[in-house]
Amino acid sequence: MYPIVLLKKGREKSIARRHPWIFSGAVQRADAPAAAGGLVCVESEKQLPLATGYYNPQSDIRVRILDFKESKIDEGFFTERFKRAWDSRKNLLGAETDAWRLINSEGDGLPGLVVDRYADGLVVSVETLGMERLKPLWLKALEDAVKPQFIFERSERDERESDRGSKPVRALLSGEREAGRVVIREGGCRYLVDFEKGQKTGFYLDQREGRRWVGRLAKDRRVLNLFSYSGGFTVQALKEGAREVVSVDSSRPALELLEENLALNGLDSASSDAVEGNVFDFLRTEKAGEFGLVIVDPPSFARRRSETQKAGRAYKDVNRLAFQRAAPGGYVLTYSCSHFFPYELFIKIVYQAALEAGREARILNRFSHPVDHPVHIFHPEGEYFKGLLLEVS
Ligand code: SAH
Repeated sequence: MYPIVLLKKGREKSIARRHPWIFSGAVQRADAPAAAGGLVCVESEKQLPLATGYYNPQSDIRVRILDFKESKIDEGFFTERFKRAWDSRKNLLGAETDAWRLINSEGDGLPGLVVDRYADGLVVSVETLGMERLKPLWLKALEDAVKPQFIFERSERDERESDRGSKPVRALLSGEREAGRVVIREGGCRYLVDFEKGQKTGFYLDQREGRRWVGRLAKDRRVLNLFSYSGGFTVQALKEGAREVVSVDSSRPALELLEENLALNGLDSASSDAVEGNVFDFLRTEKAGEFGLVIVDPPSFARRRSETQKAGRAYKDVNRLAFQRAAPGGYVLTYSCSHFFPYELFIKIVYQAALEAGREARILNRFSHPVDHPVHIFHPEGEYFKGLLLEVS
């Protein structure tokens, strides 16, 4: 049905293990009509059809698999995956929120596609040329399966490869939306999501569990929210009775959103201090004293494998300074969202940071991917999220 990509002898093993990527070294040849971004059928060296996916001769990942059999990729194929994903999220999160990641790329069997649901709208990120080419099919299927009021595209260039190779896209794909903003609800709070100008697709959906924990821990404490963005943690902390929250971020638009989020939740801005600046400088110079809860949620310090070592130094620095700020009996909630920074290394670095700060710390909880950011068991490359809750003495 589709042009054939023929594998080298023995290279069907990764398909047998259900890994969704086929690397260039595994390919014997591709049929001449196989086009960049086009659909292909993957065959073993013995010419047995094994899988259907999309092809990119310019990417190291030659084929990304959509289905582990020979099949027709049509609107119905996407509709079924969207419905399944929707039911799973609704079941697990529907009582708590109207915002979730609906499609998490390979984790939901759709490599290169991310879909975030924000109340009555969807924000999509297209990360590969293949998914870009398939847009007419999945767009229609998304409309049918979810019936959103609008679908907005917010695609950045994938950092890890030049698979898509295009400029960032910010465009309304369907429906109507006057402003590039929407209000979502989660755990009794409301948040303004600026999906057009904000970071990523507008909100850090992956921090839902962290926000829950901050709500539990913040009462009567002074809270330091480092790398606050639009104040997800700040809102939760104040809502649950934090004495004061100091939020630090280098982005002014982020802090403006934070102020709007306080107002949206009827919170007293007198208990909130939003500091625009570099977290590392703030922690070195600020004499604001100690905090009962310190949150450390930096951007990815390792965007590629070669940056792992440098990232290690940055994670250690920021965590050491955070431990120094924690009051005895206080908590540090610390995260890394770098795929190229494995969990064991993260724990080791946090341990060294505590040691250098001269503090004792106990791990109370470990955090990993939330339920709406599933990682496929056969695709560990999809994993990036890690966090630790520590009690400091
Ligand atoms: N904790 C946030 C998400 C953090 S994303 C939430 O739950 O929504 C990382 C944030 O760090 C971004 O808002 C970015 O503007 C900010 N940032 C990046 N480098 C920084 C630095 N050196 N100092 C202060 N803020 C920084």
